Amino acid sequence: MKQEKHFETESQQLLDLMINSIYSDKDIFLRELISNASDAIDKYRYLSLTESDKYPSKTHQIRIETNKDERTITITDDGIGMSDKDMIKNLGTIAKSGSKEFMKKLKNAENKDELSIIGQFGVGFYSTFMVAKAVEVISKPIDGEAHRFYSEGKSTYTIEESTFKGTSGTKVVVYLKKDKDDLRYSDYLEEYRIESLVKKYSDYIRYPIKMLVKKTKPVDEDKPTDEKEKEEFEDKTLNSMIPLWKKSVNDVKEEDLEEFYKNKFDDYEKPLLSLNVHAEGLYTYESLLFIPSHVPYNFYSETYEQGLSLYSHGIFIQDHYKDLVPNYLRFVKGLVDSDDFPLNVSREMLQKTPEMAKIAKNIESKVVSELKKTKKNDLEKYTKFFDMFGEYIKYGIYSTYGMKKDELQDLLLFHHLKDDKYISLEEYTKGMKEGQKDIYFASGKNLGEIKMLPQLEKMKKDDIDVLLLDKNIDEFCIMAMNEYDKKPFKDVSTETNEISEERKEELSSLSATHRRFLDEIKEGLKDKVDDVIFSSKLVDSPVCLSTKEGLSMNAERVLNEDPGEHGDIKSKKVLEINPDHELFNALKDLSNDDEIKEYGSILYDEAMLLQGYEIEDKAGFVSKLNKLLIKTSKKD
Ligand code: ADP
Ligand code: MG
Repeated sequence: MKQEKHFETESQQLLDLMINSIYSDKDIFLRELISNASDAIDKYRYLSLTESDKYPSKTHQIRIETNKDERTITITDDGIGMSDKDMIKNLGTIAKSGSKEFMKKLKNAENKDELSIIGQFGVGFYSTFMVAKAVEVISKPIDGEAHRFYSEGKSTYTIEESTFKGTSGTKVVVYLKKDKDDLRYSDYLEEYRIESLVKKYSDYIRYPIKMLVKKTKPVDEDKPTDEKEKEEFEDKTLNSMIPLWKKSVNDVKEEDLEEFYKNKFDDYEKPLLSLNVHAEGLYTYESLLFIPSHVPYNFYSETYEQGLSLYSHGIFIQDHYKDLVPNYLRFVKGLVDSDDFPLNVSREMLQKTPEMAKIAKNIESKVVSELKKTKKNDLEKYTKFFDMFGEYIKYGIYSTYGMKKDELQDLLLFHHLKDDKYISLEEYTKGMKEGQKDIYFASGKNLGEIKMLPQLEKMKKDDIDVLLLDKNIDEFCIMAMNEYDKKPFKDVSTETNEISEERKEELSSLSATHRRFLDEIKEGLKDKVDDVIFSSKLVDSPVCLSTKEGLSMNAERVLNEDPGEHGDIKSKKVLEINPDHELFNALKDLSNDDEIKEYGSILYDEAMLLQGYEIEDKAGFVSKLNKLLIKTSKKD
C-alpha cells in the first residue's frame, strides 16, 4: 500500500535549500551517496562479525549506472539496507545534530554569502536534490521486505512495497534536473565525469565502486560496418580501494591527506596540520591525524564529539572514539586502524585493552611532537594554531595538576609587556635581567586592562619584561606549573616584590613614622583589605591593590564567574600606597581620624577602578568625591 508522508519541517527547509541550490559545489552529491553506501556496507560487515548467522558474509560492492534516456544515475549497494520505518526515520527527518545545527546557523545568517558554510556540514542524502528533480530509494533489510521511497523534494514523499534484487541493500535512483544555461546536469551522465568524481572524492572507499564502461577495442576493418559500431562494455572498478592510511607513507601526497580530511570530516577548508603515522614495533597501527584550520562550528557546544574513528583490520568499528586522544587534544580529528585491536570483542571490552591505552599514549606524543616541530619551523602556522586551541594546551597542564608540564610547557605562548608578539617561556627566561630570579606575570580580564595595571609601573621603568595573562585558564595553568627551568612564577600583584634591602628599610621606617595614617585607613577598610602598606611597585599612580600570597584578585574573579562551584571565594587584599606620590604628601598630615578613613575609602575605590574592577558602592564613591569637590572649590 502506498503511503504519503510529510517531511518534518526542518527537513523541508533543508530540502528547499538544496533545490534552490545555493551551494555551488553540486558534485558532492555523488560523494554523499557513495559514502552512505559504504557506511551501509560497513554496518553490514560489522554485524556479520558479531551475528554471523543472521548476516552471512558476502563480497560487497557498490554499483553506479547511468541512463541517458531516462536521465538517471543509480547507486546500488549490498549493505545493511533499510526497512520502511528506517526510511521514514532516516530520510524523512534530520536526525543528525550537524544538519540541525546547520539549519539554525542558516536561519541566523544575515549575509546569504555565508551560505558557503554548507560545506561544514554533512548534509548528506538531501544534497542529492541539488541535482535531482526526484529521488527514488529502494531498500531491503536482511530480515524484512523491500520498500520504495520516492520524493520530488516537495513537502511530501511516498513509501510503498517494492522489490530488491539481493538479500539486503539499497538502490538510490537520481532523476537529474533539466539543463539550464550553464548548469549542465547531463554532464553527470558521462562516464568520464563519474569516473573522475569517484577518483577525486571516493577513491579510498574500501569497497569496489563498479560501473559498466565502454570497452576501447581496436576497430576490426574486415567486419561489416553495422557490427563495427556495436559497443562493448566491461565492468570497471573506479576506485583504488586501498584506504589512504594503508598506503605506504611515501605514496601519499599532502593533497591526498587534505582531500581525505575534507571528505571525511565535512570541512570546506583544508586542515592546518595533517599527520600520517605508521607505527611499528611494540604495537602496530596506522593513523591519520588532523588539526582543523578553523575552530569547528560546534566546538564549544555539547554537540561536538571529540575522539578518533576506530578501525580494526581495516574494518570500521566506531566514530568519535574518546579514549584515543586525551581531553586536552579534543580538537584533533582523525582515525586509527590497528590489527592489535581484537576484532571480535564488544566495544566496551576494547576500551580496556592495554593495547588501546598504549596506542593512545603514542598518538598523544606524536601530536605533541608535531606541534613542537611546527612551532620551531613555521611559527606563523603555529601561532594560528595557538590562537585557536592554545587554551587547550594550558588546560592539559592544569587538568593534570602539572604532570604533563615537561611535555607541554614549551608549547605555550604568552603575550608580554615588551611587544605585541607572543613569547615562549624559553624566550622569556633568556631575556631575564641579571639578578632577576622570577618569571613575572600580570593577569586580568583583557590585555588592555592588564597593560594599565599600576603594579607594572616600576617594571616598565626598570625595563623588566612581564607575561600578560589575559585568558581565564592562564593563571591556573601557571599555578599548576609552579616554575619553569627552576625559575618560579611570580604575580606582580602580590604584596611582596624583590626590592633592595635599602629600599626595604626606607619603607619600613616610613611606615613607622606614618603608622597612625596607615592604621586608620586599614581600620576604615577592615571588611575589604587585610593590610595597608607603602608600595615599591608604583611610579605614577597613587595606589594599587595587591594580594597576599595565595589567591590573586584575578583568580578570584575567574572562580566567581561560575558561582556555586566554589562558594564565595575571596583573595586577601592589600592596599598599597605610593609614598612618592604628591597625593600621599597632601594627605599624610591629616589629623582627623574620620577624614583619614574617608580618604582611605576613596583611595581603595581608585585602586579598584585603576585595575579594571567595578567599585561596589558607586553612589557612596560619587558622594565622597562631590564632598571633596565642593570643599576644594570653596577654598579657591
Ligand atoms: P549520514 O550519512 O551523515 O548519517 P545522510 O543524510 O547521508 O546522513 O543519511 C541519513 C541516514 O540515512 C543515514 O544515517 C542512514 O541511516 C540512512 N541511509 C542513507 N543511505 C543509506 C544506504 N545506502 N543504506 C542504508 N542506510 C542509508
Ligand atoms: Mg551520509
